[in-house]
Amino acid sequence: MLKNAKYIRNAAPHIIPSPEPLDGFKSLVPLDILRRFNGMSDAELATWPELLAVKQTLRPRPELAMQPRLFGDPPFKGTLHIVKLIFFTEADGGTITIDDSDIATVLEYTTLAAVPISAYCSQYGSNRLEVSPNILQFGPAVPNALYNDDRVRAMVNSILEQNHLDADSSCIILLNPPGMTNTDADPADGVLGYHDKANSPYCFVNVLGAGLTVADRRDLYADSLSHEIAEMTCDPDASIFNHEVCDGCAGNCKNSWHNFFAGPSLSLTNPLSYLQSSKTFPAAPFTYFIASIAARPHADDCPAPDGACAYGPPIPPVTVPGQAQVWPVTRSSEHLDVFVTDISGNILTAAWEPDFADGWHGWWRIGNLVAPQGAPVHCVSRSTDHLDIFVTDSSGNIQTAAWEPDFADGWHGWWPINGGRAAPGAPVTAVTRSADHLDVFVVGTDGHVYTAAWEPDFADGWHGWWRMST
Ligand SMILES: [Zn+2]
Repeated sequence: MLKNAKYIRNAAPHIIPSPEPLDGFKSLVPLDILRRFNGMSDAELATWPELLAVKQTLRPRPELAMQPRLFGDPPFKGTLHIVKLIFFTEADGGTITIDDSDIATVLEYTTLAAVPISAYCSQYGSNRLEVSPNILQFGPAVPNALYNDDRVRAMVNSILEQNHLDADSSCIILLNPPGMTNTDADPADGVLGYHDKANSPYCFVNVLGAGLTVADRRDLYADSLSHEIAEMTCDPDASIFNHEVCDGCAGNCKNSWHNFFAGPSLSLTNPLSYLQSSKTFPAAPFTYFIASIAARPHADDCPAPDGACAYGPPIPPVTVPGQAQVWPVTRSSEHLDVFVTDISGNILTAAWEPDFADGWHGWWRIGNLVAPQGAPVHCVSRSTDHLDIFVTDSSGNIQTAAWEPDFADGWHGWWPINGGRAAPGAPVTAVTRSADHLDVFVVGTDGHVYTAAWEPDFADGWHGWWRMST
């Protein structure tokens, strides 16, 4: 809808002038036309000759319409930044916001959901979705409880600037609290969210209540949030010629498919955590769900056929650079685990034991950390069935993660080790000199060798770093 409004504003500023009225684009052009403009026939627009003329300017590019720019444009590769908006309403001096606990739930949800969203979107092109663990805050002052998309764009640009974010690799996630209305995305009109691009891509999502949960059985945010993140990932420029990849499976096309998942880890060769696709919430437990993403051959169908909405995440191929090191470790008799960083910078692991009749299991991605492609991942087993791994991430932070059988939810971490820094991808070697003692070694950014140590008695975590030479 916003794509259409902005196309009309560019082509015909006499119909939709700037600045945008507070009551939204729908106060200038009926909502029904804004929603369907790029798909409407000449006959339907006959009573709006000026809009018909604008529509005809879309025509001279049939080769683009046939071959959406999406498939030539790169999908999103970067970081989602979640923003807690604290509106100050000048009329009554009040503030309207979303509780910290609810924002934390949204962050937890997004961190889980980004993994399968990225996998589904991989059929539209190579993409990368990281989720920043830091919740940003922004406090716009507004006259009353109404604002519009022009204001949203200004907010996005201010948030980028204030937080020194790279516009080419950031997406701003704005969560609108109940009680505030963006007139271009009014839940009363059935609009729950949208994505667009200011200086960077952004997703706008109406949060419909409080007391949020990751499973979101009350349908208060997860459906629209996953929908907009997926569409943004496939179409970060919000081009009018691109597909909206969720619409064919969603309410926009009188459909309502969702994909349900258990647990956090998505195995790259066997999407074990995918449970099922369903139009209704299953009675059985699930951890979280996402809006379905139409299979690419049906991206233009409205609605898309059931089979193009109800399917598990495609398995992206695991590809590792030729010079990469594969690091093996044995945590108990006859158990093997190996670690490697693939060409996208994902840290991957696979496992073998004699009971696996079908050979090696995996690969599984370990958390959302990104390291330079092929970066060495060193592992040590400090006691039976304990694994600790070490890597220097793409930002040069020295990081560790851990696994033991008691961790029902898979790997724990990543944790930075005491602010230690090295060249991105620098090897971090580790050794265990007695049970449960860890010593790690790395060359720091100043060319000196550093070490740090850990043992269970260190209540405050890792000790170090100590420089080993003068
Ligand atoms: Zn959509």
